Order: sequence, then structure tokens, then C-alpha cells
Amino acid sequence: MVKEIGIGIGVGSLIILLIEGFNILPLLFLGILGIFLYQMLTQNGIAGTTSRQQALNKKIPSIEFNKIGGQDSAKKELIEALDFVKDLNGIKHMGIRAIKGILLSGPPGTGKTMLAKAAAYYTDSVFRSASGSEFIEMYAGLGAKRVRNLFNDARQLARKNNKSSAIIFIDEIDVLGSKRGQVSSHLEYDQTLNQLLVEMDGLSVDDQIQLLIIAATNRIDILDQALLRPGRFDRIVQVELPSKQARLSILRIHTANKPLAKDVELESIARETFQFSGAHLENLTNEAAILALREDTPQIKQKHFIEAIDKVIMGEKLDRRPNQTELTRIAVHETGHALLSEVLKPGSVSTITITSRGKALGYVRHNPEDDLYLQTEDYLEEQISISIAGAVAEKLLLSSKSTGARNDFEKAIQMAKIMIFSGMTKLGMVGEETIPRELLHQEISRILQDIEEKVMIIVKDNQGLIRQVADELIEAERFSGDQLRQLIKNKC
Ligand code: ADP
Ligand code: MG
Ligand code: ZN
Repeated sequence: MVKEIGIGIGVGSLIILLIEGFNILPLLFLGILGIFLYQMLTQNGIAGTTSRQQALNKKIPSIEFNKIGGQDSAKKELIEALDFVKDLNGIKHMGIRAIKGILLSGPPGTGKTMLAKAAAYYTDSVFRSASGSEFIEMYAGLGAKRVRNLFNDARQLARKNNKSSAIIFIDEIDVLGSKRGQVSSHLEYDQTLNQLLVEMDGLSVDDQIQLLIIAATNRIDILDQALLRPGRFDRIVQVELPSKQARLSILRIHTANKPLAKDVELESIARETFQFSGAHLENLTNEAAILALREDTPQIKQKHFIEAIDKVIMGEKLDRRPNQTELTRIAVHETGHALLSEVLKPGSVSTITITSRGKALGYVRHNPEDDLYLQTEDYLEEQISISIAGAVAEKLLLSSKSTGARNDFEKAIQMAKIMIFSGMTKLGMVGEETIPRELLHQEISRILQDIEEKVMIIVKDNQGLIRQVADELIEAERFSGDQLRQLIKNKC
């Protein structure tokens, strides 16, 4: 408003001067120059110096862990580590090396950034974030300098806000932290990574401001091992695509602020969104709201959600949920593995899921065992039994095998070979180089057949149980080991 009046007065006086016969050209020129200078200053001078300054002004994010749906085990592991970080006096007293880095590993859109922010809120720390790609520059030394700045900024930000701790979040750490020497002709990457390691090594529990570095990646496999050593990112938290139950809670979170019609069943939306990440689900609720708004309906209806699912799938090139026959097969296969595992080693299953990840369709995760320096014959036989149980269950319950068991067989064959070359078989002591291929082949087949027969008996005895557990697994998509054991107990 004031601006308009100003312009009005300016133009008015110019007209008067013009009428008076005054030469206004120099004045006009000066005015334009002034406007130009002002623009430059506001854009580059004040705002531009400054993306650094702006970042400094961001305070503690106000995301709480309960705004993150699902991710129960990731949250639990992260909070455990944070509780430890918070107990500074305890750490000092015991002379413990502080946790400096936590790595969040998992696919995009699963809430890693949110987790890092929630960590800052939880520990009452200021939050400074950066992305791996920001450090990659053509000019030697600039990346390293930016790493130094990042650490200093975080400390300064904490001081300014009277906080004693700061969390530095480095997204896409793989961009700057892939194995050194891998990126040819780019010594720059190595210098940047080295600088990060130097900064982290320099952190101490006695620092006035405690820094915790949280990094995120979905390519943990390409990270330089130096990053994962003790005293660096030695806590790794797996963040996974949400299960059905988790999808439901994410949908609830993102529809909490939206008017939903009575016919909306978030449960069925959760079921239909197999393989969706949290970000996809957020996008889905947003699209549904847009569709409702376009139709001028005051509330979002179920059909809007359904339509939005298709939109997100097409937009993101997501796979639809596998068909029911495939799901049944995957569930029976994984239940076969899990059941054998529980029969042979009660308490050994930690998770069973039919959510596909990478190439594996579903998977059974086992509780970590003590490191074995020696593998006994029994142990190897158990491992082979568990490996082939997936295929055996498919064969017995669905009367055919599938290609889903290829990796399992490869594992079983590897272990059979270990048995042979450790002299555990009738062949006695045989050497890898001298044994005739034909004989090796026969012996492997014999071992696998013997074990398969035993596995068949166990699977046959438990056919009904496997079917029921598989059915429930299709519903739930994922069970913890305890849930699985409870189910087995109830059904027996
Ligand atoms: P990542 O860092 O793993 O790529 P983000 O944390 O950036 O994922 O998530 C992007 C967006 O997706 C979030 O802002 C949020 O809206 C949504 N989102 C992702 N995961 C979740 C979750 N577990 N609960 C709720 N919202 C989520
Ligand atoms: Mg992110
Ligand atoms: Zn398998």
C-alpha cells in the first residue's frame, strides 16, 4: 500500500516537473538504477548470503515419534540409542565412548528424514540438515570446507538457541560416502569423505556442545567401510516399507486433518496399498482430497481414495499387489521355512513377511546366533532343512514347486559341499580339487534327498498348521517371531 502511494507521488511529481519543462531523463535513470540495486541487494545480499544464515535460524523441529506411523522396530532402536546419548553423565562416569553416528538405511519415502527430526525433538537438540550431493563440487577442497562449515554451523546454531546438543542430518550419505577410490578422477569425493571422518573422530563427550550425526541412505552396500567403523556410524537402523498395519496407522496420521465421509474404510485402503511407502501414502491422501475438492463434495469418499491409489501407482510406476495365487504361494513358502526353523530351533524366527524386498519375494529373518567358529554336522543339516522347507511346503500344499526357491537351493548346495569337504559324509576325506565331478554331484543329491525326506515328514505332520498360519500371514503381511510362536501354540 505504502509502496503504491510512493510510486503515485513519484509519478505525479515527474509529471509536474515535465509540465514545468524540466529535463527528467537523468532523474528517471537514477530511479531505475536505484530499483535495480535494491533488487540485487535483497536477493543476493540479504537473502542470498544466507541460505546458511537461514538454515541457522531453523530451530528444533517439532516432529514427534508418534507422528511417524509404523516403523516400530526402527523407532525402538533409535530411541534406545538416543536414551543412551541423553545420559551424558552416565557415559562420562563410565568412560564410555559416545555414540557419534546413527545410520538410517532403507528405501526412499519411508520416514528417515522424519525419524532424524523426531530424534532432534526427543533429545532437545537443534537440527541442521544437509544432503550428500551438496558436498560434491568440481573445485578441489570445497566439499571438505563445506563439511567443516556444517559442523561449525551446527555448534553455532545450538549456542544461539541455548541448547547443549545438535543433530546433523546428512541425507543421501552414499553420494559422498561411497567406497573411496571408486569414483575415478574424483579425488574430491575422497577429500570430502576424509573430512567427515576427521570431524567425527574429533567429537568427544567432553565437548561443550554434543553433536550427533544421523545419516540416511538406501545404498548401504556401496558405503565406504570406514564410515561404518566403531566411533563413526556404528549404529545401523533398518527402515523398511510399511506392513499393512503400519500403512493403516500412516493413513490415519495423514487423514487426521481431513474430512472423511462415512463410507471410508482406511483398512481396505491399507490392504490395497501393498508396497507403498509412507511418502506414497501421504501423496495418496492428498490426491484423494484434491479429487473430492474438484467434485465439490464436502467430504472425501472411499471412491476418491480408490481413484487416488491408481493415480499414485501410475505416477510412481509402482507394482500393484501381487495376485492372490502368488501371495498364497509366497506365504506357504515362507511359513515352511519358519515352521522348520521353529521345530528344529524353537525361538529362532525373528520376523516373517511376505512383503517383497529387492529380489526376494518374502523372507524369514532369524534371530542372530552366536558366531560359530565351527559348524557341526547337526547345524549344517538344520540349515539345509530350513532352506529347502520353503519348496517342500509349496510342493506338499500347492502340489508344485516354483522358481521362488532357487536361492534356497543354492544355499543348500553350498552347505552340502561344506559337509562333504569337511569329511562328514560317507566319502570320507575328499579334496575339492581331486573329487570327480560326478561323484560330488551324486553325494550332494544324496545329502539333499535324505534331508528332504525328513523335512517332508515334518511338513506333512504340520500341513494344516502351515495353511492356517499362511492364511493369517496373507492378512497381516508380517509377523514378529513372538506373534508367530503364539499362533503356532494356539493352533496346535
Ligand atoms: P525418507 O527420508 O525416508 O525418504 P521422509 O521422512 O522424507 O522419507 O518422508 C517423506 C514424507 O512421507 C514425510 O514428510 C511424510 O509425509 C511421509 N511419510 C513417510 N514415512 C512416514 C511414516 N512412517 N509415517 C507418516 N508419514 C510418513
Ligand atoms: Mg528424506
Ligand atoms: Zn525361500
